Amino acid sequence: MDDVAQEVLRQVAEIGAKDLNWKQGRAFSLAYYAGADVQEVADQALAMYASTNGLNADAFPSLKKFQSEVVQMVSAWVHGGDESAGFMTSGGTESILLAVKGSRERGRQEKGITTPNVVLPTSAHAAFEKACYYFGLESRRIAVDAEWRADVTAMSAAIDSNTVLLVGSAPQYPQGVIDPISEIASLGLSMDINVHVDACMGGVTLPFLERLGVPITPWDFRVDGVTSISVDLHKYGYTAKGASVILHRSKKLRSYQTFVTDNWLGGFYGSSGVLGTKSGGPMAAAWAVMNYLGDAGYLRLTKAAYDACQQLADAIEQFPELQLRARPDSTLLSFGASESNNDSSPMFDIYAVADLLAQRGWYVDKQSPPASLHCTVNAVHGAVIDDFLIDLRWAVDEVLTHDSRGERGSYGTIE
Ligand SMILES: *Cc1c(COP(=O)(O)O)cnc(C)c1O
Repeated sequence: MDDVAQEVLRQVAEIGAKDLNWKQGRAFSLAYYAGADVQEVADQALAMYASTNGLNADAFPSLKKFQSEVVQMVSAWVHGGDESAGFMTSGGTESILLAVKGSRERGRQEKGITTPNVVLPTSAHAAFEKACYYFGLESRRIAVDAEWRADVTAMSAAIDSNTVLLVGSAPQYPQGVIDPISEIASLGLSMDINVHVDACMGGVTLPFLERLGVPITPWDFRVDGVTSISVDLHKYGYTAKGASVILHRSKKLRSYQTFVTDNWLGGFYGSSGVLGTKSGGPMAAAWAVMNYLGDAGYLRLTKAAYDACQQLADAIEQFPELQLRARPDSTLLSFGASESNNDSSPMFDIYAVADLLAQRGWYVDKQSPPASLHCTVNAVHGAVIDDFLIDLRWAVDEVLTHDSRGERGSYGTIE
């Protein structure tokens, strides 16, 4: 490598100096870390295939193999059986976009629906809103119950002859609980409407938690009526960013997802997803990490993340000033300020707690409504929960003493 190359790479490394310290477990969101060995496997495979193009997997048989084997592994986790079929995508958002697009298409082709709607709980991910907006569907949000799970009675009431999709999450992001998938799926089955299970978070952890003996409410293809499932690998699969899987119960259902045209001067153009040119790196990295970790690795990492999350939940329940929103069904939790006795308003500004935690290098999500903090707990956190709790105790005391106000948060940036 010549001097210029070395200098440029030194700068690339230096520019990241102020980024989140996720490899030390300071980030309870956005990044996941399963140790230096796993990271090395992901990084090397990613680099090897970074500039290959998944647009045409026939030109890169390697990518075809990575994709089909990754999809098969995920299908086995979620009990897809012989009929299920899917693709790798760039992430949970793309998987959800495709589930919504496929449902709209099925409604149009099989039932002649031209003004489609989606019925989904308020807890379902923002990506569904994006999908409805992009593809011209109405989003009908229904309430969650006292335990933050989809209210299936409200769901049933919101369905009409233009409903093309029902959604449940396993687990939902904001409070970390699993929706009543069986009930949602039987609604879908009885009315011949697609049911998507958003397992972007739980798709890797839940199968292994079940094997570890943790009671898990049914949520995958073993539930009749579930037509598609999204599973993110770049979260609890600990693979490089840019990897998710969308699975359909059958090839027929998958056919509504894909797009083909020859209406241009370039000839036949087919594509499975939203992107055109896409890096083969995340596919190679996913294949590499999944084969490296295997069942034993995922059992170990899932247990580590789950135990850390339960430890954090137990500790938060011991804070009189904090309210755990729900016992975590897997590895996500959220909490807010306890309510004052007079008018049940929050006793203090929970966002101010997040701002103080940030001063000590911790990153937690701020969410609402209601104003809460959110922790996505992964395998790296086992070693730091005790430290985090010391700083959480300090931050809560500070905010109570000074009646501090915090800044509102956002999940993404638009500028
Ligand atoms: C992360 C997530 C998504 C969106 O996935 P991206 O990979 O961020 O695009 C959707 N649903 C749930 C439950 C998620 O946790």
